[in-house]
Amino acid sequence: MTNEKKTKIVKTIKVDADKCNGCRACEMVCSAFHAEPKYSSNNPARSRIRVIREPLRDIYIPVYAGEYAPAECMGRDKYVIDGKEYEECAFCRASCPSRDAFKEPDSGLPLKCDMCEGEDEPLCVKWCLVDALVYEEREEEVEEEEKPEDLDIGLEALANKYGLQKIMDTVNRMAMSEKGMENQS
Ligand code: SF4
Ligand code: SF4
Repeated sequence: MTNEKKTKIVKTIKVDADKCNGCRACEMVCSAFHAEPKYSSNNPARSRIRVIREPLRDIYIPVYAGEYAPAECMGRDKYVIDGKEYEECAFCRASCPSRDAFKEPDSGLPLKCDMCEGEDEPLCVKWCLVDALVYEEREEEVEEEEKPEDLDIGLEALANKYGLQKIMDTVNRMAMSEKGMENQS
């Protein structure tokens, strides 16, 4: 794989957790934007941002869905904030086999923030009325590696869950059935 230098726009969402009031508008709009068809439903379990809440202590931490991890990592992290200890991995961004976070609830496929591809500004930022989320762009010279596409990531997750042979059998069966339908028409 060749790495070459390219100028690219680095997109950042700065999270000011002190301003977050736990309203969950970001979760609602994210899940609605990614619904099929768009805006046909909203379900925070399908959101690419989750707000870890501790309402009694007025602590709310928005966490964005990051990369898919096919295996659990070797270590665990644990946070204590204002004297409250959070569950292991509570603020991890990965969609990984050790927990249900950042997985599409029906299929189990990994969810990842795509910065609301196609929109001028991330919708969670737009709908965060207290400015806990601030969008920034900057240009940077980076070594560009070929990144796996969503389809590759989804197929890898399915193969890990059901086994490659089962996926191939299913695809073959679907192809045969489609061919059969074409021949009939
Ligand atoms: S919309 Fe803003 S204030 Fe509301 S939960 Fe999300 S980050 Fe927090
Ligand atoms: S930037 Fe878009 S995709 Fe990412 S969490 Fe916010 S609303 Fe969801």
